[in-house]
Amino acid sequence: MNIVSLLKEKGFRVTKPRLEIIKVLSNYPLSAEEIHDALDKKNIRVDLASVYRSLELFVKMSVVYSIELGEGKKRYELVNKNYHHHHLICNKCGTIEDVEMNEINFDKKINEKSKFLIDHHHLEFFGLCQDCQ
Ligand SMILES: [Zn+2]
Ligand SMILES: [Zn+2]
Repeated sequence: MNIVSLLKEKGFRVTKPRLEIIKVLSNYPLSAEEIHDALDKKNIRVDLASVYRSLELFVKMSVVYSIELGEGKKRYELVNKNYHHHHLICNKCGTIEDVEMNEINFDKKINEKSKFLIDHHHLEFFGLCQDCQ
């Protein structure tokens, strides 16, 4: 199901700003400021506070997830169950790369050890990208 029908189903109004925010979001983790800038470039005027509010709403609905990459701010990315990936963050230039992985055994092993039932996980790796090495 796409996000728009999910929003409607849950009784949320699909306003133009919300729709535009969804369009800007992707698998690349963007900060609220970056989303705001992207909307600005498309001549869509939405204030930063509403961008934050919409993002938090999407997070609550599990269509977007937020991550903290040690910058003191959140980044937002679309939830894509078919694309399990992790982030490689360059300490020098701040580039964020995706690495596609599917380590089901990892979750299984944790469950065996702790009996914790894992729903999902995020893993971030910090280091130097190829250009910065
Ligand atoms: Zn780099
Ligand atoms: Zn994983």
